[in-house]
Amino acid sequence: MKQKMVNKPMSDWGKKIWFDGKLVPFEEAKIHVMTHSLHYGVGVFEGIRAYELQDGVPGIFRLDEHIDRLINSSKTYRFELSYGKSEIRQAIIDTVRESGFTECYIRPIVFLNIPRLGIKPPSRKASLVIGVMKWGKYLGEAYYKGARVMTVQWRRPPPHVLPINAKATGNYLNSYLATIEAKERGYDEALLLDHRGFVSEGPGQNIFIIRKNKVMTPPLHASILPGITRDTVITLLREKFQLDVLETDITLGMLYEADEAFYAGTAVEVTPIREVDDRPIGSGEPGEITKRLQKMYDDIVHGRISEYYRWITRVD
Ligand code: PMP
Repeated sequence: MKQKMVNKPMSDWGKKIWFDGKLVPFEEAKIHVMTHSLHYGVGVFEGIRAYELQDGVPGIFRLDEHIDRLINSSKTYRFELSYGKSEIRQAIIDTVRESGFTECYIRPIVFLNIPRLGIKPPSRKASLVIGVMKWGKYLGEAYYKGARVMTVQWRRPPPHVLPINAKATGNYLNSYLATIEAKERGYDEALLLDHRGFVSEGPGQNIFIIRKNKVMTPPLHASILPGITRDTVITLLREKFQLDVLETDITLGMLYEADEAFYAGTAVEVTPIREVDDRPIGSGEPGEITKRLQKMYDDIVHGRISEYYRWITRVD
């Protein structure tokens, strides 16, 4: 029987992939099946979004911060990158421009493209690949209606097991288990606790709760990825909403009793949480502050608020 083509290119990928310095056709961007990083989960990556600005040009949101995190993640895993910040910046801009997309999700990945087994690679010289794709609302309708979330049995890896602040491919084994567990039980998204039992984050996004006009989000030591959206949201809540934001340990009980809760991340943007473990959060509808914040985030990423235009890199 003829083998079914499972990795047929999906139409929503950009036609070109930036592969170690060259833009190549999507179909030609290949690696060997025996590549080190595939077998041992050794790679670091980013997820970035570009949005259509007022004049129809794509604008990449907080590009510099994403590149800094990619470089820091690479350093943690001791990858030797052949490109500096400005080259990576240009490569991402070129890939977006080449795609012709006005809005897209950008995926740079750094990995060991070496077809050799053995955990110690013969070299730590890493490849850089950048792809872009169209990606709508990551959690679909939940963006509008609020997400139904389930706390899963898997815990985020503690800081003495993995440097969880680096955005590494291997971390997503944990995210994968959490996601399939929650989704296969009919929930919109998973929630993970840290090794101590405090609220940590979602499989690909940070969490915030609001109680009596006080905003709380787990601290870095709660095994979270230091999200760039998290930083954006903290800035906006302080500067534009004049609200206190505490980075503090949060128990599940505190979450259940919150007036509002939401997820924040590049993929999910600001997504309200309406239910956790079958308990309604607040009224069980997206909260008022969350809705205002979601709108403000959307305005900012689309370049509609001049004060925060500094966060946008135009792709002219
Ligand atoms: N936590 C995890 C585990 C993630 O994968 C992401 C997405 N990168 C985030 C949080 C949110 O990070 P950011 O806002 O930088 O996308």
